[in-house]
Amino acid sequence: MSDMSADMFSQPGAEGTGGTHEAPEAPWTLEPLTLNPSPARPSPPCPSDHLRAWLAAAPGPWRIGQVAMVRAEESARTARTEAGGADGVADESRYLLLHEDDAAGEADAATDSAARARAALVPLLLESGASTVLSAPASASTPAPVLLREWLRWDAAGAFRPLRGAPNLRPGWILGPLSAMQVVEALRLIYPGAVADWALHEAGALRVTPYEESAARQTGRFSVVRKLGDERLADMLRECCGGAPSADGTPNSGCLRIPIWAPHTPRPPTAKSRPEIPLLCAEACNYFISKAREKILGRLD
Ligand code: SF4
Repeated sequence: MSDMSADMFSQPGAEGTGGTHEAPEAPWTLEPLTLNPSPARPSPPCPSDHLRAWLAAAPGPWRIGQVAMVRAEESARTARTEAGGADGVADESRYLLLHEDDAAGEADAATDSAARARAALVPLLLESGASTVLSAPASASTPAPVLLREWLRWDAAGAFRPLRGAPNLRPGWILGPLSAMQVVEALRLIYPGAVADWALHEAGALRVTPYEESAARQTGRFSVVRKLGDERLADMLRECCGGAPSADGTPNSGCLRIPIWAPHTPRPPTAKSRPEIPLLCAEACNYFISKAREKILGRLD
């Protein structure tokens, strides 16, 4: 692929619509693909319960993709209140989410330097309206808040991000304090399907769809992807999923997800004490399928 960033902006493929991931909103109409006739899955574990148990077991700070998670000082205040005997106070820790590039010095989120650094970041809103969550008290120097889903749409160069797993999440933001349930909601937008797939993986219940099965479901102009073959599949995995920089050095290429649907890709070990949630990809996404079609038609070298 000669210029993946340009391709990513112009192509209709969207990450994860073929699997448990969700399609990011796109300023164009996606080609309708076939419905997913996946067989019935076992009841999935509750993602927020799973996340809460993991946060309690694994030492922080925590990480998923390019996002760092730290415990907010509000958690300590809640704990002190409860220790003082106040009844009816929820035993619920709070967390801050921020870009990994902005997370240096956040190991102790209660320090003054961490607080000063956080005050310069753009506070993201989980949603608009009554349940809006602000990351910091407003002040004259606090940047204006931005909706999380709006921040996720564009990379630092202003290009649309069709692949949420691409390593081009803009830094300079902070989100929270959030409850564990709100963390799940935020991560559902940042990395669609990632927490649910990880919880299923840890429970040994994540269904993985081989490429042949994904390709066989495609119809119409996408049915040609059945002819990809092993060699071109390996090329595609390198170009779309492998995180390789494009020929002009543009870093907005590749994907942080681990394509465990691909042959010979090992699944990460299940270990609740590791402080990082792996970004799993259990099925070729629509972006990959659209790129596979281009490859077969000779538009992608
Ligand atoms: S790993 Fe590959 S198939 Fe999976 S979401 Fe990323 S680009 Fe798509």
